[in-house]
Amino acid sequence: MTTRSVVKSSELVTRTAAVAEEVAAKHAADVDQKSRFPLETFAALKQGKLLSGAVPKSLGGQGAGMLELGMQCHALAHGCGSSAMILAMHHIQVACIARHGMGSAFFEKYMREHLVARQDVIASITSENGTFGDTRSSVCAVEVSGDKIKLEKDATTVSYGQHADAQLVTCRRAADAAASDQVLVLFKHGDYTLEQTGTWDTLGMRGTCSPGAKFSGHGGAEQIVPGSFADSSAQTMVPYSHILWASLWTGIAGDALGRAAQFVRGEARKKPGTVPPNATRLARAHVDLQAMRHNWESCAQEFDELGDGPGARETLGSMGWALRMNQLKMNISEMAPKIVHEALQIIGIMAYKNDSKFTVGRHYRDVLSGALMVSNERIAGKSASMLLVFKDD
Ligand SMILES: Cc1cc2nc3c(=O)[nH]c(=O)nc-3n(C[C@H](O)[C@H](O)[C@H](O)COP(=O)(O)OP(=O)(O)OC[C@H]3O[C@@H](n4cnc5c(N)ncnc54)[C@H](O)[C@@H]3O)c2cc1C
Repeated sequence: MTTRSVVKSSELVTRTAAVAEEVAAKHAADVDQKSRFPLETFAALKQGKLLSGAVPKSLGGQGAGMLELGMQCHALAHGCGSSAMILAMHHIQVACIARHGMGSAFFEKYMREHLVARQDVIASITSENGTFGDTRSSVCAVEVSGDKIKLEKDATTVSYGQHADAQLVTCRRAADAAASDQVLVLFKHGDYTLEQTGTWDTLGMRGTCSPGAKFSGHGGAEQIVPGSFADSSAQTMVPYSHILWASLWTGIAGDALGRAAQFVRGEARKKPGTVPPNATRLARAHVDLQAMRHNWESCAQEFDELGDGPGARETLGSMGWALRMNQLKMNISEMAPKIVHEALQIIGIMAYKNDSKFTVGRHYRDVLSGALMVSNERIAGKSASMLLVFKDD
């Protein structure tokens, strides 16, 4: 068996695929229409203990690698794009804690008691008014006095903030620190308030429930993730974000194309012995879908093969790896809407109708968020500067 097929048949992936089909897909239209949190899906994931995939085995989690987590998000995306995005964002936060908080008594206890036993969900606050989409700079600063901390942040976008059990927040290390001298701080439910400052009436990803919010939290100094955010961003947040997002955008596109395939098979049954004309278009779209799948899976596999030693962390901080992540993110977020568009052309009016079983409206709107969540223009700008000095081998 190949690594891919072993991972694909893991419990984490197969049980999540069942939740996608039996729960997420059934509620996806309602979640989208009402712009509401996918409660049923997360209750099922929690019950199945499927939220602790990124926690190391030594602490009771599944210790899943990137490929397995990606396949889990990909499977859930077939049922509901918003649910898959929430699961991916949760895993990204957990990975930051697991990869940078090991050795800290506070974070190890938190992982065991909250992430594994209670299956808590963590939200992320990187966005901030005044930083214009640049996650690597902060206006707000954590206030440390003795062993106590306080933080206030005016965030532009906070996904499922009101439904999460904790928030992982970026901020400057101290009031006199530079904008890019940041740390990550974990705040548990009960130790913070989130005052909603905007609405979330968007084109897509409506179930992520991501309005602006004013955050105010307090706690102990041990809640600051060890090390700098510069390191946790390059070594963990960026690779986990770009690979897991790519996996779920591919999943959404794959579900849309699956609907097109089902439609074309139906057409073929009507005229046995003939190949419907739109079958050729379907075949071409599958070429692109396969390229997308290979792109994210090979990045995930390479990440897993790197392991977690000092050499691996050095590679993850290199220009070559940063370019690879940027290219993956830009490619998949731009390909996914094209695939869904193809599904729409193949199916025709039945895909355009919101109340048809072949509808791809939600898929289309959901994947349009890909190019914006960390703007592709901003990413292209960063890649452009790196490519001036970087030569690939
Ligand atoms: C579904 C969804 C969920 C999200 N969830 C969260 C969350 O949970 N927590 C959180 O903190 N944030 C979240 N975000 C916010 C996200 O992380 C980004 O901060 C946000 O999408 C960027 O907003 P922006 O378009 O104003 O940013 P900007 O990057 O400032 O882009 C604004 C405009 O400037 C252009 N631009 C920017 N840089 C350049 C450049 N170098 N060259 C040319 N043009 C440029 C862009 O094309 C764009 O048109 C979420 C976003 C989405 C879509």
